[in-house]
Amino acid sequence: RRAKLKQLSGQPSVSADGVRLELAANIGSVEDLAKVLENGADGVGLFRTEFLYMGRSSFPSEEEQYRIYKHVLEKMNGKRVVIRTLDIGGDKELPYLELPKESNPFLGLRALRLCLDRQDLFRTQLRALLRASTAGKLNVMFPMIAVLSELREAKRIMEEEREKLLREGTPVSDSIEVGMMIEIPAAALNADSFAKEVDFFSIGTNDLIQYTMAADRMNEAVAYLYQPYHPSILRLIGMVIRAANRAGKWTGMCGEMAGDPTAIPLLLGMGLNEFSMSAGSVLPARELVGQLSKREWAAFAEEALAMGSQEEVKQFVEDKRRFD
Ligand code: PEP
Ligand code: MG
Repeated sequence: RRAKLKQLSGQPSVSADGVRLELAANIGSVEDLAKVLENGADGVGLFRTEFLYMGRSSFPSEEEQYRIYKHVLEKMNGKRVVIRTLDIGGDKELPYLELPKESNPFLGLRALRLCLDRQDLFRTQLRALLRASTAGKLNVMFPMIAVLSELREAKRIMEEEREKLLREGTPVSDSIEVGMMIEIPAAALNADSFAKEVDFFSIGTNDLIQYTMAADRMNEAVAYLYQPYHPSILRLIGMVIRAANRAGKWTGMCGEMAGDPTAIPLLLGMGLNEFSMSAGSVLPARELVGQLSKREWAAFAEEALAMGSQEEVKQFVEDKRRFD
């Protein structure tokens, strides 16, 4: 099986009925790139940049970040690299960043909210990204957006930094795609409005599930509520993909669900364009999508979305797969 999978590493990701997909990998550091290349991922669908800020005693400088982003873009050799701006807070803390204690950190000043509050941090990262943009195919992605004003403010700040750099004579790519994560139910429900103002969406199911189910993703006692195939979650995902399609934009997913063999057939049927997962899942996912007809799963997904529980959906997918 390993040898058979290995053969797929240089192949494109295509469904049985000929639909081209992007099967990308998630990374947290430059060191993770070796596995991405080894497994022939179609790109990097999520670079969690907060890891560059963790395990040290001060912020990484613009120069340091620039070198890292440039290196990743170069190594990916023209394949798409989605770099997410700082997603700190919640479960991820920085000892050198003094933040007020919050009683609900997952509902607090985290990720983009923190970046809009601490613009020095945000601007430094954006400048590093913009400077690196000429080294490859860069997509910039903002995490944890709930309302349009946050997206507009983030884009405005990025535009300001771009203009400053150009005035200084520093080249910046003019084909950077700017997107946002959909990980808050309010953003999923308002995806039509957001779709007009971004180039792409990437659904962060780890947080989307936690916020939809009101169940802390770190708390074992409520782990039973962590239900990726629950129709409520699937319907939100469906809304996001349809909104993107209507606006002519593409949709990815970078939460754990994107690499899950039970979820993949449904997501393919619902029209997800890009799946970003741990590098080790890319080849098994490529093999799986090669066996699935998107047309057929579009009809199955519609049936699944009308169900009432995760158990029914799971059983349904397993039954359909058995006859494939
Ligand atoms: C997510 O929330 O699904 C996600 C990809 O981001 P993180 O796991 O880093 O919060
Ligand atoms: Mg998240």
